[in-house]
Amino acid sequence: MTRGNEPSTARPGIILDRDGTLIDVVRDEETGTLSVAFHPNQVRFLPGVITGLQSLMAAGFTLAIATNQPGPAKGQFSRRAVERTHRALLDSLGEHGISIAALEACLHHPTGDPTGDAALIGDCDCRKPKPGLLLRLIENLALDPRATWMLGDSRADVDAARAAGVRSALIFSRDRCELCPLRGGPPGGPDVVAARFDDAVSRILELQGSRV
Ligand SMILES: [Mg+2]
Ligand SMILES: [Zn+2]
Repeated sequence: MTRGNEPSTARPGIILDRDGTLIDVVRDEETGTLSVAFHPNQVRFLPGVITGLQSLMAAGFTLAIATNQPGPAKGQFSRRAVERTHRALLDSLGEHGISIAALEACLHHPTGDPTGDAALIGDCDCRKPKPGLLLRLIENLALDPRATWMLGDSRADVDAARAAGVRSALIFSRDRCELCPLRGGPPGGPDVVAARFDDAVSRILELQGSRV
């Protein structure tokens, strides 16, 4: 895919959001509240995710994950719980033949909670919509920004993509507007909008696949 004087090592990439994109949020049936998965047995893939990721791998994309996980800063669960959940997520994807080249998580939160880990509370350059996680992945994995997409379900994902100089695909279905408060408002400015993960992948492959 070498074009012009572009280095031949630059790779096409897909940077994936975690919650609401790859895996479902967790519903507490008693209270009706939503939280993100923080235990290995809470990892539930959303519809179309496994086949979509397999298609992306087959098309030659390097896959990575960029996720905000402020739970430890808010005192909701431990950093170790986040790490174990990520290990389970990566293992489970591996069982489907899907390899994630790198996972970057922002554990910070600007205000946190008094019960949270004080070391994680405050501003950082990596919490989406800031581009830090994406820029780290692009550099560490030698991704070609012109052939790289952020695939997520929230405004913060789209804004982080723009700030990092990559394209964005937004999964947004009206029938899951229970998630809207977690999404940071209505969608704005993504290159692709789709109702499901695999639909977003099809659109990305149409737009980018011929150039991979
Ligand atoms: Mg999300
Ligand atoms: Zn951060």
